[in-house]
Amino acid sequence: MMEQTLSIIKPDAVAKNVVGQILARFEEAGLRIAATKKIRLSRVDAEAFYAVHKDRPFFKDLVDFMISGPVVVSVLEGENAMAKNRELMGATNPKEAAPGTIRADFADSIDANAVHGSDSLENAAIEIAFFFPQREIY
Ligand code: GDP
Repeated sequence: MMEQTLSIIKPDAVAKNVVGQILARFEEAGLRIAATKKIRLSRVDAEAFYAVHKDRPFFKDLVDFMISGPVVVSVLEGENAMAKNRELMGATNPKEAAPGTIRADFADSIDANAVHGSDSLENAAIEIAFFFPQREIY
């Protein structure tokens, strides 16, 4: 099924200068970059984006990390884009991420884990609308 999903290249990966390498992995897997931009999240933005985690013990660390530097947000489009992106990303904890995944190759810790990807089609639609007006998605 043709789908769209949201990807965020987190501040650690942007600082490592591997944005192009990560975007290339999406393209090599057959996903198309329908929209992309580099932005710096405000604290209000990051808290709203991760609102589902607001009661978790790691919430403050997560927000602090996500606003520590610019991020690259993209809309990825293709067959099974949501699940395909999650597969390319690897497990949340890079120590558990399968070899060859983005997190295994570029992430250092569970906080600084290189990428975010929507975890359901419902969340993908919400997350895409959070960052991109329809006129910026092609
Ligand atoms: P994801 O969908 O694989 O990104 O994982 P989740 O949606 O469960 O968590 C969102 C983000 O919160 C993760 O990417 C991590 O950066 C962070 N996170 C999740 N679990 C933990 C944890 O146990 N400790 C810390 N410090 N951060 C966590």
